[in-house]
Amino acid sequence: MRKIVLASGNPGKLTELRELLAGSGIELVSQRELGIDDAEETGLSFVENAILKARHATRASGLPALADDSGLCVNALDGAPGLYSARYAGVHGDNAANNAKLLHDLEGVPAAQRTAHFTCVLALLRSAADPDPIVATGRWSGRVLPAPRGAHGFGYDPVFLPDDGGGLGSAELDPALKNRISHRGQALAMLLEGLRP
Ligand code: IMP
Repeated sequence: MRKIVLASGNPGKLTELRELLAGSGIELVSQRELGIDDAEETGLSFVENAILKARHATRASGLPALADDSGLCVNALDGAPGLYSARYAGVHGDNAANNAKLLHDLEGVPAAQRTAHFTCVLALLRSAADPDPIVATGRWSGRVLPAPRGAHGFGYDPVFLPDDGGGLGSAELDPALKNRISHRGQALAMLLEGLRP
């Protein structure tokens, strides 16, 4: 079993990534379990922040580190909440407040103009000096719903209607199905390809 640190304390990401890695021979340990603080996310793009976070976690733990930088980009809001998805309403990780702010910002915007996508960038660094990280990306397109629906998932799932969800919102999808089709599922499949000997 290969041990890898997840450079995040987000329980939603940890659950999804652990399920996606089941049977892969990789054991994910969250940096929080190892007492490692969050890195400062000073990058201007998902890919920069993913690399910063993974480098911080591998430097602090001495183990290979995987980071997931992800977020929701809404076309009518010029890509917001984007990089700031976790703290859109001001407090890091307040999902209910983030969703309420998003719905408020889109008040009066008709369904056809509520297009959005989730992006996920995964970066795997074997050490802090790794010059050749494995970087994998995924994108999941859909629309922002007029009101929250469903009880699964985390973050913006209750307000996201994926194009390929058969009419179900992201938080109404069976978690295994979300994992197969989501931005994170797509990125992880690409990452595992990159890990093949
Ligand atoms: P990060 O920790 O800076 O990458 O923040 C990611 C944020 O994007 C999360 O806190 C969520 O608000 C949002 N997000 C990312 N992936 C998902 C998802 O699969 N469902 C819902 N929200 C997500």
